Amino acid sequence: MTLTLADILRARQVLRGRADATPLVPSPFMSARTGTPFLLKLENMQPIGAFKLRGALSAVAALPEGTAGVTCCSTGNHGRGVAFSAAERGLRAVICMSELVPQAKVDGIRALGAEVRIRGQSQDDALAESRRLVAEEGLVEISPFDDPQVIAGQGTIGLEMLEARPDLQTLLVPLSGGGLAAGVALAAKAIKPGIRVVGITMERGAAMAASIAAGHPVEVEEVASLADSLGGGIGAGNRLSFPLCRDLLDETVLVSEEEIYHAMQVLYYEDRIVAEGACVVGLAACLSGKLEPEGPTATIITGRNPDMGLFTRVITGQDVVLGDLTVKGHPYGT
Ligand SMILES: *Cc1c(COP(=O)(O)O)cnc(C)c1O
Repeated sequence: MTLTLADILRARQVLRGRADATPLVPSPFMSARTGTPFLLKLENMQPIGAFKLRGALSAVAALPEGTAGVTCCSTGNHGRGVAFSAAERGLRAVICMSELVPQAKVDGIRALGAEVRIRGQSQDDALAESRRLVAEEGLVEISPFDDPQVIAGQGTIGLEMLEARPDLQTLLVPLSGGGLAAGVALAAKAIKPGIRVVGITMERGAAMAASIAAGHPVEVEEVASLADSLGGGIGAGNRLSFPLCRDLLDETVLVSEEEIYHAMQVLYYEDRIVAEGACVVGLAACLSGKLEPEGPTATIITGRNPDMGLFTRVITGQDVVLGDLTVKGHPYGT
């Protein structure tokens, strides 16, 4: 199965007026630091607080009449998008998540009327529960990243960025299961083949980067991270997001928890944006010197649903404990 720009253009029709046209704004601080125009695509302003609404609306719209209901595994934001989209269509939704998912995300999903199942310590455990619901209750599973409709929905972000700024030369895309990066890279390279698209993720649990390096999907251990939305594997049977990311991403860059911590402070104090750790990996890669942006550059601020207790600790410069790792706190600017 191949996915093309035409699929992304079709998804755009579904999203029109519901989950589209988020602002693309300059970051004066990041522009000064990198010496090139640096822009932020504000997907944190979506109705559910994250870009995942695009893929979820696109996938739910494609379901046939008479669908019994939907289920998915999620690190939180996909579940919220599916819950929102299913409620709009009057469908039952059961969202399966692991114990690593912040409570704020669980509460947000329940508030949309979906059922929540918490299972185990990893996305694999959550996925097993979702698969059981498909087999036993006839629900339809919507993958957070390995689904053509989901990838097409996320790809509309790439269309919007290049329409707003045709001069963009580098796109920095937070990377987990790769639905976002696959869609954005597909759209961007269809419009502008020479554009550089970089996938960025955390060092702790970088499943897609490890899979690209190995040449096939591999499993990595899932551990706590400031970028909790980037957790989880890519699925041993990955059909779409893995080959697309392998073929379309120019490179992948990994950032440390310390670098994410600092970049969360930068985005908050310099751009005054409340966002998850997952959103700032593009900033972190540039601020750490691991990535040199060339020409006008944009990154995607993917979501605003952090655990607020954790977020407050980072912003006020306190230590953060992530499983066996303690990120040493420091007030911003020190
Ligand atoms: C899901 C998610 C990502 C990563 O998207 P993938 O399609 O899984 O690569 C990044 N940021 C946030 C906030 C997310 O919820």
